[in-house]
Amino acid sequence: MADCIFCRIVAGTIPSNKVYEDEIYLAFKDIHPKAPVHYLVIPKAHSERLDALARDGGAVALGELMLAAVRTAEATNLGDYRLAVNVGSGAGQLVFHTHLHLLSGWRHGAGEVG
Ligand code: AMP
Ligand code: ZN
Repeated sequence: MADCIFCRIVAGTIPSNKVYEDEIYLAFKDIHPKAPVHYLVIPKAHSERLDALARDGGAVALGELMLAAVRTAEATNLGDYRLAVNVGSGAGQLVFHTHLHLLSGWRHGAGEVG
C-alpha cells in the first residue's frame, strides 16, 4: 500500500536499519526504541493487524511470523527477549501494518532500565 510506512520500508523508498530478512519477512530497528534493543518484525505483504493476518493466512501465517521473530533473535544473538504485539488503536497500535515488537538488552532483566 502506497500510504503505508512499513510497505515503503519494504519497498526501500524510505530507509530502515535492517537486522534480518528472508523472502517473506523483514526485521528492522524501531526508530523510537522502548528497550536497549527494539526491533520490529513484519510480513512483507501488507495486512493491517494481527487478526487480519490470522483471517487471511491462518495458523501458518501466524506461526511463520513468530518463527521470523525467533530467527531474528538468533541472527542478532539475543539471549532473552520479549515479543509483543498491539492489535488495534485501543491497544496502542499506531502503524497499521502487522508487526511484532522484539525487545531485549536489559542488563538486569525485563522491566529494568539499561
Ligand atoms: P505500534 O504502536 O505497535 O503500532 O508500533 C509502531 C512502532 O513503529 C513504534 O514503536 C514506532 O517507533 C515505530 N516506527 C514508526 N515509524 C518507523 C520507522 N520509519 N522506522 C522504524 N520504526 C518506526
Ligand atoms: Zn503496509
